[in-house]
Parts: sequence; structure tokens; C-alpha cells
Amino acid sequence: MILVTGGAGYIGSHTVKALLLEGRDVVVFDSLELGHRDAVLGGELVEGNLLDKDAVDAVFNKYSIDAVVHFAAYASVGDSMVSPDKYFTNNIEGGLNLVNAMREHGVGRIIFSSSAATYGEPMGVPIDESHPQNPTNPYGETKLMFEKILKWYDVAYGIKSVSLRYFNAAGADPEGKIGEDHTPEGHLIPIILQTLLGQRENVKVFGCDWDTPDGTCVRDYIHVTDLADAHLRALAALERGAETGAYNLGNGDGQSVKQMIDAAEEVTGKKVPWMAAPRRPGDPAKLVASSKKLKNELGWQPKYPDVRTIIEHAWRWHSTHPQGYAG
Ligand code: UDP
Repeated sequence: MILVTGGAGYIGSHTVKALLLEGRDVVVFDSLELGHRDAVLGGELVEGNLLDKDAVDAVFNKYSIDAVVHFAAYASVGDSMVSPDKYFTNNIEGGLNLVNAMREHGVGRIIFSSSAATYGEPMGVPIDESHPQNPTNPYGETKLMFEKILKWYDVAYGIKSVSLRYFNAAGADPEGKIGEDHTPEGHLIPIILQTLLGQRENVKVFGCDWDTPDGTCVRDYIHVTDLADAHLRALAALERGAETGAYNLGNGDGQSVKQMIDAAEEVTGKKVPWMAAPRRPGDPAKLVASSKKLKNELGWQPKYPDVRTIIEHAWRWHSTHPQGYAG
């Protein structure tokens, strides 16, 4: 049985779907504070919070857990700058309750949702795994701290882990069953698509004077299904006896905010109203991954590297679920 914390969230639910397709038994542990019951397409769902040690213990007592895929965390950079307390409590204390329960129950494998935010302002792109990690916000700091906790939990207790450092997760299930639904929404693609649905007046482009070809920020958008696939490969690697490690997860291809708006216009055939807005604090100009290590060591290849496909799948979800899971 695979325990998936945060399996009712955006990336978690897509990974649960992939695990189920592979024939795995899955139990999702999710507080449903930010996750959605309807996002869990199968397996068992236990509603609970990682801060509740008894609830965590109860899951390990009830199910025979072989490995853990750990998504449950707060993940908004801006919010973390305002309320770091929430991030350190939830992401670190909650995470510690999880790995301590693993220890007590003899579970020795975990895949962890880390982030490109652990690198901070990059010295150059593409970024590989040896790039120094200097987070510029509390969210990224919690992800880096937990990577370190996992490293030392291997040294002392033999728990093997793979930390996957995501760049910009995007898109939706190609079959249209699940997708992205955050409240409030802060991510670029859903904001563009909500604007096209008439739910917002325009897209505010955060800075048009960056040191990039068209002046807008460059990011590496990766399809959520390709992200999910990397989790399955990482899990299989640990099952084959791989050592603790970390991998970047991106397409290695940078797209500017303006290019994303153009691509959305191309995919939907609609004009995207947008306006220049001030830079968003904490945004680096360019974040692009080198995913060579993941490709070489785990044989990962993105199935949907084209941003147009990513936007097409996101559009399918948003246009059929304009209110997200509530609609
Ligand atoms: N962005 C923007 N307007 C928005 C939301 C995002 O211009 O309303 C930009 C943001 O500055 C960044 C890129 O779009 O350069 C992707 O932002 P997102 O929040 O989706 O992901 P992040 O890069 O912060 O993980």
C-alpha cells in the first residue's frame, strides 16, 4: 500500500491517478483544507492532518504501508512571506510527524515534493541539482529544511528518499477528469484561463522590465502528468534499492509570461486582455531546469513538453469546470 499525503491536491491527485493506473493500492491522507474529495479518483481517502500525531499513527496502524509519497504542505510563496509561522509548523512539524511515524512502523521509502524555490535566485540557467540552495522565501526554506531532515533520517535510520524539485507544475489530466483548483488562485495559466472565462477583467503581468528577451519573467512549465510519472519512477528506483537523492523536474525550456499569453490565444482562439503590473516581490527573472539527471538515471521523458498541449489540457479542465470542483 502506498500512502499519499496531500493526495487530494493538484499534483497529489494526478499522482494518485497514475499510481492507480499502475495497479498500486493507494491510501490518501489529506486534511481537505486545500484538497478536494472529488480529486481522489480511487483508493482509500482518510481525512486527517499531519499535525495530529494520533491520526498519522492510526493510518500506519490500519494499513500496511510500503512507501510514502509526501505532498501535503502549504505551497504559496507570497503567503509564506506574510505568515512564515504557518509554513514552518505545517511543512516541518507535520513532515516530522510523518517521518517519525515511518520510523516507528518500519517504513523505509519516501518520495518528497520539493521545489525549485529551494535554489532561490539562480546564478544562471539551466539549473542543475548541484546549484547552491539559498531560498529567498519561507516556503522554499521549509522545502530545503525537509530535504535536509530526510538526508539525516537516512544516515541515522536508513529511510531512503527521493526529493523531486518541481519547476512550474501546469496543465491537467489529459482525460479531463481532474485539474487545478486553488483558492485563491495565484498561478499564471489558471489566471489566464479564468480571464478568458470572464471571471477576471485582465491578466496582470508582473513586470515587463526584467532582463529577459521580451522583458517578462521566464519559467519552465511542466505538465502535471509528466510530474506524476516522475514520482512513479522515483518510487520504482527506491524499490530497486536506489540511494537517497534529489532530481529537478522541468522541461528545460523557458517560456516568458508574454509567450504564455500568446500560446493561450493560439490554443483557445480568444484574445487575452492583459496589463503591465509591478514586479511581484521574490520573483526571479528566469527559472529553467536541467532535468538531465532525471532523464539519465530514471529514464524519464516528458510526454507533453509543448506548452500549447499543457494549456490545451488546462483549458479543457477550466472550461468544463469553471468553478473548479465546486462546479
Ligand atoms: N505571473 C504574472 N501574473 C499573474 C501570475 C503570475 O505575471 O497573475 C507571472 C509570475 O511573475 C511568474 C510567472 O507568471 O513569472 C509564473 O508565476 P506562477 O505564480 O504561476 O508560478 P511561480 O513561478 O511563482 O511558481
